[in-house]
Amino acid sequence: MRISKPMNAKDVKRIKIRYVDPDIKTQRGLFGGGCMNAQCQDICCENGCDVDLASLRLIYRYRHIIEPLIKAKIEDCFSTELKEDDDYIGGAYRETAVRESDGRCAFHLVGRKGCSLFYLWVKKRLPKRIVPTICRTYPITWHRGRLFVDRPLRRDCKCMEKRPQGIKVPSLYETQKREIRALFDIRKDIRKNHRGRRKNRARAA
Ligand code: SF4
Ligand code: SF4
Repeated sequence: MRISKPMNAKDVKRIKIRYVDPDIKTQRGLFGGGCMNAQCQDICCENGCDVDLASLRLIYRYRHIIEPLIKAKIEDCFSTELKEDDDYIGGAYRETAVRESDGRCAFHLVGRKGCSLFYLWVKKRLPKRIVPTICRTYPITWHRGRLFVDRPLRRDCKCMEKRPQGIKVPSLYETQKREIRALFDIRKDIRKNHRGRRKNRARAA
């Protein structure tokens, strides 16, 4: 199946940001191995996520290696149709479905920790773009030009763990910096404080 761009969707390459909440530079980050070394059981995947059009195209292209990992057809992995929105890379997005058997996003690996899309990027060297934007930056999120921490943070999230004695823990901005730079186009000349709707990853937290 070929996913085509909706007729009026803008060709968004990076998400425009006009305000960065200073909170992202004071909150402890995903230190010490990050998500893979956390006790959280990937709790932030329990609401599914918004998948940008750019990621969606890759998901369909590589469906033959994704489907065995999630034991489902790609067609059954979404709860919404494609919606135009220039707040997403590619100018549109779909929301993932949540699996009944384990209460995790349809793209979570079955029976073990981790996401099938991250797995294919890290282990099989598929393009990193296959991982949705929000899953690369979480728990930093964005909305209509604002970049901020998606509070409340999950209690078992790595960034809520006690600071190990004698170790300097980097901030969320520091641990997510590479992704932020790759995915967002940050204007530094506008500084206004706003909060907004969270991108779907911890929607019902
Ligand atoms: S796409 Fe992967 S990381 Fe994102 S919510 Fe789903 S399982 Fe979690
Ligand atoms: S972002 Fe936090 S809650 Fe989500 S998988 Fe990573 S450590 Fe766990």
